[in-house]
Amino acid sequence: MEIQSKLPHVGTTIFTVMSGLASQVGAINLSQGFPNFNPEDRLQKLVFEHMQRGANQYSPMPGLLPLRERIAEKMERLYGQVLNPDTDITITAGGTQAIFSAIAAFVHPGDEVILIEPCYDSYRPSVETVGGVAVPYALSAPDYRIDWNQVGQLITPRTRMLCINTPNNPTGTLLREADMLALARLLKNTNVLVLSDEVYEHIIFDGEPHASALRYPELYERSLCIYSFGKTYHCTGWKTGYCIAPPELSREFRKVHQFNVFSANNPLQAAFADYMAESDDYTDLPAFYQQKRDVFQRAMAKTRFRAIPCLGTYFQLYDYSAISDEPDLDFCKRLTTDFGVAAIPVSSFFSDRKDDKVVRFCFAKTRDMLEKAGELLEKV
Ligand code: GLN
Repeated sequence: MEIQSKLPHVGTTIFTVMSGLASQVGAINLSQGFPNFNPEDRLQKLVFEHMQRGANQYSPMPGLLPLRERIAEKMERLYGQVLNPDTDITITAGGTQAIFSAIAAFVHPGDEVILIEPCYDSYRPSVETVGGVAVPYALSAPDYRIDWNQVGQLITPRTRMLCINTPNNPTGTLLREADMLALARLLKNTNVLVLSDEVYEHIIFDGEPHASALRYPELYERSLCIYSFGKTYHCTGWKTGYCIAPPELSREFRKVHQFNVFSANNPLQAAFADYMAESDDYTDLPAFYQQKRDVFQRAMAKTRFRAIPCLGTYFQLYDYSAISDEPDLDFCKRLTTDFGVAAIPVSSFFSDRKDDKVVRFCFAKTRDMLEKAGELLEKV
């Protein structure tokens, strides 16, 4: 039997490869992005209570209404966008599923999707699975600045979608108001949709505001905005997120979502709905993660790695060109096996595996782990 792969150039995602190697050799795992601490006890208790009370069967296809109501209230308060929970918000099985469903709902075979790279490694395979063509725009270390005129030159009559991500994984950069307005101008009078990946919306430092697509009506009217409970409540394994889009876009999104997962995890949604009604503790996240960033940067100060500024997300990039000129994937593997610290090679976030000799460390870890990693990396 002959198998015709839809993704002939895709292997196993780098997150699985590096986490696997880290656990195999017992290294500190700063590769795949996830916290090494638990969600709040109260949130865990709510999940258990809802399970005991019987919330163990399917949720409605678009998600539990009380949760969608809490999200609508929060987003209006934060970003000034009035949302209808009935028509504009869909709860998903995490950010990655939301991204896949958004792409699958709108991208036809042969349609072009502009990716600003480096970007999260699921975007391109999602586009290619549905027969779309990824059109990458590659940024460069250390500032990863976007020239919107150059992005504009990539738009053709086949362009269906453009993906943005702020705060950005892996670069730690932010889009600001000027970027969002430039993008809105660029897309005016086109049929290009925006996939706005905002899963790190609350992990943003030095007092900067989050330039959500929800804030800009001329952008929001063509946007699907993606969020993740995992990043905000320290529970990436709970795989719950959501997609916010205007009714006519949400309608198409749900057509795919309902046959992709049907609905997301029910007791978790019930717990999040209660928790959001009780607590605004996401407002503590900037200070919480800024402190971790600073602890990690201090721990790394004695090493030969050079920090690239991190303005948001729980990822810190380091340039290692002063240490070695080996390919970043080999370097990351060697860091893991020989020095006991796993990182992600940033070339994994480029279609052409562009290698700027930069690696990504996740600092969503306890202080002792971050300090220990710094110590181990002093030997490199
Ligand atoms: N988003 C996380 C990261 O970039 C992990 C995602 C995953 O493992 N699929 O590390």
